[in-house]
Amino acid sequence: MSASARSRTEGPTTARAWVAKGPKQPIVLETVELGPLGAEDVQVAVEHCGLCHSDVSVLNNEWGISQFPAVLGHEVVGRVTAVGPGAKGLSVGQRVGVGWTAGSDMHCRQCLSGNHHLCPRAQPTIIGHRGGFATHVRAHWAWAIPLPDGLNVADAGPLLCGGITVFAPLTMYVKPTERVGVVGIGGLGHMALKFAAAYGCDVTAFTSSEGKFEEARGFGANHVVSSKDPAAVRKVAGTLDLVISTVNAKMDWDALIGTLAPNGRLHVVGVVPEPIPVPVFPLIAGQRSVSGSPTGSPVAIATMLDFAARHHVAPQTEHFPMNKINEAFARLESGKARYRIVLDADF
Ligand SMILES: [Zn+2]
Ligand SMILES: [Zn+2]
Repeated sequence: MSASARSRTEGPTTARAWVAKGPKQPIVLETVELGPLGAEDVQVAVEHCGLCHSDVSVLNNEWGISQFPAVLGHEVVGRVTAVGPGAKGLSVGQRVGVGWTAGSDMHCRQCLSGNHHLCPRAQPTIIGHRGGFATHVRAHWAWAIPLPDGLNVADAGPLLCGGITVFAPLTMYVKPTERVGVVGIGGLGHMALKFAAAYGCDVTAFTSSEGKFEEARGFGANHVVSSKDPAAVRKVAGTLDLVISTVNAKMDWDALIGTLAPNGRLHVVGVVPEPIPVPVFPLIAGQRSVSGSPTGSPVAIATMLDFAARHHVAPQTEHFPMNKINEAFARLESGKARYRIVLDADF
């Protein structure tokens, strides 16, 4: 092997990682064997990693798909430290982001259509794969997204999962001249308000917390509606072209569907545990839709990052050193985080 080939492929073979040994267990610092770097993979030295509600769901095995021991964290920002011999487009030292997905098969119909995030063999970063609460994380080259200049690196992590989750439906379903509602002003919802406002939409925030009314306006909402007040919700009936629901709790779904204009769409990105009852008459009569989406393709993520850099869209964050990871999880679970937590690597 030539010296240059070695420098492309060599990286540390072990990592320090915050490991969850089982459901709801405290997370402990360990050294893990990384094994050989995949031919098409890159290794990334983690600088910052956002804490997403899905990390809590996987830690608690809420979806029944967790694999332990687990290294969580899927809103990674860091620098490429090693590049597999078949990896394309990235070089050592480059700053990249890794989100919910760390790889896909690159040959199925979805991948070849540019919908890599819908690949049946997509590899989630934190299920059966080690995530970003560690010194290093690995990803397929296509899923390590170069960060554009102008983005605040320390706060960019939450864009990689939460950001793309709320940005994707905006670009898929509305024009900047239309009206968008955002239900739930938390980690996802506050980013949805910022993106929808920067995109140019007329933006209505729905929140059950009166304490968040002013903040919602600060994030870009033109109107704020108490989701606990049926009369206030009825006032905007029939007006919204897209309503993005970010909540993971039961809502008055009838009333929310009632806010949709003809051709309007209720789009769900928060994992509501119970089925959503959908009355069909408003769908048929007004040609309305109810839909959902996960994150986005690598190109969608890159487009979102460019948009965020250009329009200065950034999450509002609280930073913890990574060694306070258990405190950070507890704070997120308490519902007190405003609005997105980022862990800074401190190994
Ligand atoms: Zn996430
Ligand atoms: Zn595929």
